[in-house]
Amino acid sequence: MDNQTLDSVNLFGMRVDRVDMAGALALIERFVQERTPPRHIVTADASMVVTADNDPDFAAIVNASDLVTPDGAGILWATKRMGTPVRAKVSGVDLAARCCALSEEKGWRIFFFGAAPGVAEEARARMLARHPGAHIVGIRDGFFKPEDEPAIVAQIREARPDILLVALGIPKQEKFIQRHKAELGVPVCVGVGGTLDVFSGSVRRAPTWMQNSGLEWLYRVASNPKKISKVALLPRFALMTLRAPRNARSG
Ligand code: UDP
Repeated sequence: MDNQTLDSVNLFGMRVDRVDMAGALALIERFVQERTPPRHIVTADASMVVTADNDPDFAAIVNASDLVTPDGAGILWATKRMGTPVRAKVSGVDLAARCCALSEEKGWRIFFFGAAPGVAEEARARMLARHPGAHIVGIRDGFFKPEDEPAIVAQIREARPDILLVALGIPKQEKFIQRHKAELGVPVCVGVGGTLDVFSGSVRRAPTWMQNSGLEWLYRVASNPKKISKVALLPRFALMTLRAPRNARSG
């Protein structure tokens, strides 16, 4: 299966694939075994759809990627309303956590790239406390200047990960992966947003009932007012969805 054969939905010009967690992990396993070409996995939430609508270059990166998972209640709601429901939510943080758990069993080598200085270290320490056999083969914070990128690429290449988790936020992480995937030598690169903050314990996840009822955004902005610029994209996403023809087959 490649991205031509995935069952996909078109959400306002951006592709989202109908996968569940088991399907996403099976694809990752295949990509790790195949090793080339380098694959890019996107975890798409509602803010990403609005960003893609404003930025055609970014939309093209997402649409050309190898897997776009539905990350968030907003995507589930919109695709259901439009008559093309996705199967399940596969969030970046859950997908990354499962990859780390499977690293123990399958020997996958994982690199944590992103977040503020110190966060990836703490994320690795906590992940190893839960999964002592996980292979977290490298870490690097996500605050750098453009001229640092060659050294970052060299550090990642040297660590020889199978899976690179890129936690720089949307759209920076997708653009970084697009720019460098050919030279990184990594089979699977995944953009995972605030995952390392969650792994490190510096940000708590919303309670499960809030995640399931579509209120994760409210929890995030209440616990970190800096998130307001991202949350401000959500009313636009809701309007786009409410204005779209209901039950239109768009995928
Ligand atoms: N970040 C980073 N470098 C930057 C900007 C942000 O590493 O230049 C990190 C930030 O510290 C946080 C993550 O990227 O850990 C973004 O998290 P957020 O939940 O905002 O991600 P998004 O919702 O955009 O996927």
